[in-house]
Amino acid sequence: MNILVTGGAGYIGSHTVLELAAREHRVVVLDNLTKGHRAAVRGIEFVHGDTGDTGLLKDIFRKHQIEAVVHFAASSLVGESVRQPAGYYYSNLVKGLALLDAMVESGVLRLVFSSTAAVYGEPVEIPIPEEHPTAPTNPYGATKLALEGAMRWYDQAYGLRYASLRYFNAAGADPAGEIGEDHNPETHLIPLVLKSAVGLIPHLEVFGADYPTPDGTCVRDYIHVSDLAAAHVLALDALAGGAASSVYNLGNGNGYSVLEVIKAAEEVVGKPINIKYGPRRQGDPAALVAGSRKIMDELGWRPRFADLKTVIETAWRWHSSHPAGFDK
Ligand code: UDP
Repeated sequence: MNILVTGGAGYIGSHTVLELAAREHRVVVLDNLTKGHRAAVRGIEFVHGDTGDTGLLKDIFRKHQIEAVVHFAASSLVGESVRQPAGYYYSNLVKGLALLDAMVESGVLRLVFSSTAAVYGEPVEIPIPEEHPTAPTNPYGATKLALEGAMRWYDQAYGLRYASLRYFNAAGADPAGEIGEDHNPETHLIPLVLKSAVGLIPHLEVFGADYPTPDGTCVRDYIHVSDLAAAHVLALDALAGGAASSVYNLGNGNGYSVLEVIKAAEEVVGKPINIKYGPRRQGDPAALVAGSRKIMDELGWRPRFADLKTVIETAWRWHSSHPAGFDK
């Protein structure tokens, strides 16, 4: 298939591009490189531009005879979204609608959307099934949910079929070690723990130890980025085979606390990690663990790297060989 990947030079995007290219799909990446890295998609057709640019999108659709879109381009930091909601509504919703409109006008009617567990908010049930109520506790989750809502109505009105993948915590790196996570500034737990292990930061701050969880720190479901990438390919294949629009959770179904992640990382790197306890981060629910049965049953998805230590090992391979990320 000819596939446009928006935000394809980012962390999850670039791993998905790798997986799509390995399956012989023809991929075009559109990325404005505010967060992404050109070096993450070497050898791939690349357009430097913005997802809100409807004219550019239509040109790409026509020139490359695009048949489906995988949409990653977005702002994705929970804490930042709480401080700057306007930017999140603009990047994630306004530009997302521009993409949907360009798709409908160009007759490109298959979409895989990068959504998030943040659409659920504070869980009333764990593991969280897809039918769980959606009540986001931050603008990041709210804007992703808003675009999911639009997609549902675009399907009804224009026949745009989609798979929305609600990720839990993406982590790890391609096992070959050529691409990995490189955010600036870095805010995510596992890369920060590993940066602390190599002395790039003096300590890891644990955000809150007074949550109603077994050890008081937040519990999350860490899913390997290559397992996420594989799910996008399965979702595209299903849409190409005529599947109806659907929403899927993507996680391993195992919750680990911040302290458990640190302990696993200490075992992987073979030394203690300096930590300090700080206050809770705004917008963080206490525990998020996925119920991923639906994508397993309907699309046959299975995690290949379900074990937390394996996830951290692949991240460690990347971070220890690329301490300065893609700029090395
Ligand atoms: N976290 C932490 N210290 C950090 C970064 C993250 O304690 O420096 C915690 C955060 O509060 C959350 C978990 O680690 O409970 C995972 O956070 P991350 O930012 O990696 O992903 P998110 O859950 O926001 O998608």
